[in-house]
Amino acid sequence: MRIDILTVQPELLESPFNHSIVKRAKENKLVEINIINLRDFTTDKYKSVDDYAFGGGAGMVMMIEPVYKAIEKLKSERVYDEIIYTSPDGELFNQKMANQLSLKSNIIILAGHYKGVDQRIRDHLITREISIGDYVLSGGELPAAAIVDSIVRLIPGAISDEQSALYDSFQDDLLAPPVYTRPANFNGWHVPDILLSGHAAEIDKWRQEQSEERTRRLRPGLAEEEEV
Ligand code: SAH
Repeated sequence: MRIDILTVQPELLESPFNHSIVKRAKENKLVEINIINLRDFTTDKYKSVDDYAFGGGAGMVMMIEPVYKAIEKLKSERVYDEIIYTSPDGELFNQKMANQLSLKSNIIILAGHYKGVDQRIRDHLITREISIGDYVLSGGELPAAAIVDSIVRLIPGAISDEQSALYDSFQDDLLAPPVYTRPANFNGWHVPDILLSGHAAEIDKWRQEQSEERTRRLRPGLAEEEEV
């Protein structure tokens, strides 16, 4: 899988992909992640990527040209399954979308900045718009990092125990059960006895019940929400 992220702030994306599961997936060649600086596609000496909004008003707008040039260059090199724009008015991101995207081969993610990108890019080049929640961030870099992280951990082989992603929250419309590690007794705070019992089948049953109970209590209606 190849993911190309277009940004005017590449520094913001230096750390998220260089640690933990995503780093390992890159090292094992399960995914290639390229951070592409839109300033490399500018033509003026100031490397401008933003300009005033037509019609006036506060805030700058990401210019068409650098974004267009970057996307066209990438598209001339390979076929892309999705060209995603991160935007507060996009589809609300969820695990089902992460599952779908993890099956793709080539993805571009355009991280917005300022007041957002010129609408004509969205109208003519973007295939999918994704929001990570109903709040506004300064740029699409953190959303891009969140989307990529959630996708990469689903690629087979990215997680050492391949099964474990299946038991995460939202797979099967359930929240994950509680987890514990040593010591079994800390200051009188005890781990549930069942987990120390060694009865694998009983433990599985307990975990399933805990998942169902948590889902009912914290996210009633999760199954219906996910279907939307
Ligand atoms: N004026 C825009 C917000 C601009 S915020 C509006 O009101 O909709 C600057 C950029 O940050 C956006 O272009 C987008 O790429 C990114 N961004 C901000 N919040 C986001 C969110 N919740 N989900 C995805 N991207 C977001």
